[in-house]
Amino acid sequence: MSQLPIASPSVVRTYAWKLINRHRSALIRMLLLYATAAVMSLIPAWIIGQITNLASDHQLTSHKISLLVGGLLVSSLFYAGLSFLARRRSYVLGETIFAQLREEFLASVLGLPLVEVERAGTGDLLSRTTNDIESLARTVRFALPEWLVAIIQAVLTLVAMLLVSPLASLASLVSLPFLFLSTRYYLKYATPGYRRERISYATMSGTVSETAEGARTVDAHRLAERQSKRIEGNIRESFYAEMYTLLMRVRWFPTVESAFALAVASTLAWSGWLTLHHRISIGVATTVTLYVVQINIPLDGIISWLDELQIGQTSLARLVGVSVVKDDRPQSGPDPSDETIVLRDVHYAYRRGHDVLNGVDLEIRPGERLAIVGPSGAGKSTIGRLIAGIDAPRIGEVLLGGVALRDLPLSTLRRHVALVTQEHHIFIGTVRENLALAEANASEDQILRALEAVDAREWVDALPHGLSTELGTTGFPITPAQAQQLALARLVLSDPHTLVLDEATALLDPRAARHLERSLSAVLSGRTVIAIAHRLHTAHDADRVCVVRDGTVVELGTHDELVSLDGEYAALWRSWRSDRVEDS
Ligand code: ATP
Repeated sequence: MSQLPIASPSVVRTYAWKLINRHRSALIRMLLLYATAAVMSLIPAWIIGQITNLASDHQLTSHKISLLVGGLLVSSLFYAGLSFLARRRSYVLGETIFAQLREEFLASVLGLPLVEVERAGTGDLLSRTTNDIESLARTVRFALPEWLVAIIQAVLTLVAMLLVSPLASLASLVSLPFLFLSTRYYLKYATPGYRRERISYATMSGTVSETAEGARTVDAHRLAERQSKRIEGNIRESFYAEMYTLLMRVRWFPTVESAFALAVASTLAWSGWLTLHHRISIGVATTVTLYVVQINIPLDGIISWLDELQIGQTSLARLVGVSVVKDDRPQSGPDPSDETIVLRDVHYAYRRGHDVLNGVDLEIRPGERLAIVGPSGAGKSTIGRLIAGIDAPRIGEVLLGGVALRDLPLSTLRRHVALVTQEHHIFIGTVRENLALAEANASEDQILRALEAVDAREWVDALPHGLSTELGTTGFPITPAQAQQLALARLVLSDPHTLVLDEATALLDPRAARHLERSLSAVLSGRTVIAIAHRLHTAHDADRVCVVRDGTVVELGTHDELVSLDGEYAALWRSWRSDRVEDS
């Protein structure tokens, strides 16, 4: 199973830059507030230096003390107030940016070609929508603002140190090579480690969700042990990936801490020596040493948030990667001239070198009811998928009104052709909301008529709150057959010209299915209906029957024509009839 793409660093950078640009003025205002707060945080160390100077010169009067302590108090109060305002702004901005990111990600996910989603499996996507969104939320809400604050504080503290005494500040530089080299080493080797960690989470969610979704198959084929082993393998991979990044941190953090301690010790020693030799005052020595102690806090912040930023960057690359997937149907060419569907020499393979359709030729006239029948694995559903434009042929063409389906954007395509399979989904919401998904402006009357067309009116009326009954995982439970009826009612409401029904009534009992198909066909008169069917009464009621075997059309004609032809369809029909006689 392939993974969805991961955006390259340059794509991520461009994306992040665009995002920042969109909020430039809010960002600048926030940074200015932080900078003012940072300046306030520098005043106490300077005041303490002044007090030390006055004390050493025996010039400390109560008036001066009150003045300086007053200054200390006011600057601390200003610092607290400004920090509060700046933090509040940055959290609001973080939430806004994160909400946009999430919305854009959702739009990319919904715009993903279905084939890509099927190819990548739900695990990868699930991991991106959960793990990656969560870690990006942490980055945007906390890591990024804290990191920016730390940078501002560090820069301003450095400027203040240099203003007070460039000479005394020199000693603090000894720690820079250690910090620089160890951080460079860390970033170089930790980044791929974090990427590997994220991929291992995605693989693990994939295996777990695949095992849970296919629980029955796992049970039936006694695959439990095999799946357990795979999950164990995935856990082992995650464990080693996490061990690696942990090891990187274990090496890096002590180096950083030692570098900080070294900076304080050397500044203290150096400024002490300068004071003893009367090169600087004791107040300057105090202020500079205090600044070095103080700068360690933002530097520690810059470095330790880097870790979180790395994870955020990896997650952003995975989220932006989804939007990198090329639209498989960009807008191009003219609109379809009519609703005729033509399949011309269509070949299709799910796996390279294994064609499951081998040159299908078929023309479906507007308003026709065509039944596709044939043995299991013949390629009927695949033809249905190609007619619905979910996938494009490897060779040949599928045309709608003279336009290749692959040239129609999804929204246009769905106005013309829609597919309903046995797989259907009930969303959390009322019956009304579930149906209005197909047509947001549907009136109560239209909704009721759609329910009547699929024989569902009676049971919906009997629900505790009728159309307002909540359905879905947390709502009123309905049977799979009822869910299938709602899926068909949605199709009636969306009213495309061509409907592909792939065993869309398979979950209903045969009598109910036939009744439903007949009431549906009354509503759908004038629409093209392509029904892929196991039950041959569907074929009997259709205008034409298409028999597929080994990926090609072997017979095509009306029910009566094919029965009198006495070929493949006649044999299928006879055996189906005799089964039914035996059943009854
Ligand atoms: P059935 O009546 O059992 O649904 P069908 O006639 O609809 O069968 P298809 O589902 O179109 O047949 O399958 C045609 C061939 O393609 C089969 O050999 C099937 O195993 C293969 N196939 C179907 N879906 C996939 C897939 N997603 N990946 C790989 N092979 C597939």
